[in-house]
Amino acid sequence: MTGPHRIAVVGASAAGLTTAKALRSRGYEGTLTLIGDEQHLPYDRPPLSKQILAGTWEPDRTALCGAGELGALGADLLLGRSAVGLDVAGRQVLLDGGDRIGFDGLVIATGVTPRRLPGAGLAGIHVLRTLDDALSLRLHLLGRPTVAVVGAGFLGAEVAAVARGMGLDVTLIDPLPVPMYRQFGARIGELIGQLHTDHGVTVRCGAGVRRFLDTEGRVSGVELTDGSVLVAELVVVAVGARPAIDWLADSGLPHRDGVECDAFCQVIPGIYAAGDVASWHNNHFGTRMRLEHRMNATEQALAVAGNMLGAAREFAPVPYFWTDQYDARIQAYGIFPADADIAVLHGRPADRTFVVGYGHQGKVAGVLGWNSPRELRTLRQLVVDRTPWPPKASLREAAVAELPDQGMPTTTARH
Ligand SMILES: Cc1cc2nc3c(=O)[nH]c(=O)nc-3n(C[C@H](O)[C@H](O)[C@H](O)COP(=O)(O)OP(=O)(O)OC[C@H]3O[C@@H](n4cnc5c(N)ncnc54)[C@H](O)[C@@H]3O)c2cc1C
Repeated sequence: MTGPHRIAVVGASAAGLTTAKALRSRGYEGTLTLIGDEQHLPYDRPPLSKQILAGTWEPDRTALCGAGELGALGADLLLGRSAVGLDVAGRQVLLDGGDRIGFDGLVIATGVTPRRLPGAGLAGIHVLRTLDDALSLRLHLLGRPTVAVVGAGFLGAEVAAVARGMGLDVTLIDPLPVPMYRQFGARIGELIGQLHTDHGVTVRCGAGVRRFLDTEGRVSGVELTDGSVLVAELVVVAVGARPAIDWLADSGLPHRDGVECDAFCQVIPGIYAAGDVASWHNNHFGTRMRLEHRMNATEQALAVAGNMLGAAREFAPVPYFWTDQYDARIQAYGIFPADADIAVLHGRPADRTFVVGYGHQGKVAGVLGWNSPRELRTLRQLVVDRTPWPPKASLREAAVAELPDQGMPTTTARH
């Protein structure tokens, strides 16, 4: 028999589960072991900071599959078990408790884990990554605390929007000049900041956290680097995440910002990575990337399953990301380099219905839509085609003036 016949998948969430399902649907009949350190059956994360936090969905609506579907996979499902090491030469995953899972094909799909801040061990300080995090945070928000959200990336911005929607007093804090600065630059970030201000959030960008104020082991406020002090009975720390790769530390596999794969998502022969944990070379853009995007977890998992079974296809997608804040759905295809040019391609920023393009190295690198899903889907083709910049047929020069003019950021990062 050619190809693998004992595949282990570490990480039982979006990327891991999709890989397992895709392997079976493509005809893989060998042993399949799915290992995940959470107790829950696989569930979806985007609703956690939206519908679950807002209380509009019951938790079971986040399930990525039912118990029956999982059973039909014919996989050994090891939930509540952590991989703690990897013996590459011996082709074994080491589990907590000492068990070893042998493999001839391995998928690393362990995602990311939230970054913490010093002093964030106080009661009342939350992070949001898991279903349990979301349920705990919602429960505490129902107590109507004064809220500070530290970190104005997509996650912090979504949490601030939901907490404000619950009528709470919310401050959104970030050391960068505007929300989502790293993701989309200053001009779109300024619009997002205005959106929050319009809804009554206090936006405190340009100052970081110096320390949390401690009242008998519980957070009572936040001191910022500019010396100001805010009252906060509940703090959400949303300052990004780091790849969950501690278990690979002694494996010898290449890892820095994520597990480093080639253009086929392969780390070394027989070992692949997918989802938030994977850094790979995307030849569509000619650059290495690691994405914390839900759609990527699925697409990369499908690519990995195919390549494990011999497809030998490069994974070179146009990345897709969305965020929901109040009545704004912001969607983005492509990449958004720090030194990109920006131009309005559809609609008007003043109406909060528009699409902007980002130009980089003479080509359209990304398109971002604000409440414009249909037009954005059409304009995505500019990124697929790597259309020369500026894409003259689509330009709306008059509307550019409606974008706040703050220049572009000096760094890039992920959502
Ligand atoms: C609150 C929230 C909201 C989001 N909203 C959006 C959005 O609006 N749009 C968007 O595009 N993306 C969004 N995302 C990102 C999206 O959810 C992720 O890109 C996606 O979940 C990645 O899937 P993954 O399987 O790679 O990683 P994960 O979902 O992180 O799954 C990895 C799994 O591996 C487990 N694991 C880790 N280490 C080990 C180990 N050593 N042993 C065993 N198991 C291990 C983890 O516990 C986890 O269950 C959001 C994420 C969060 C947290």
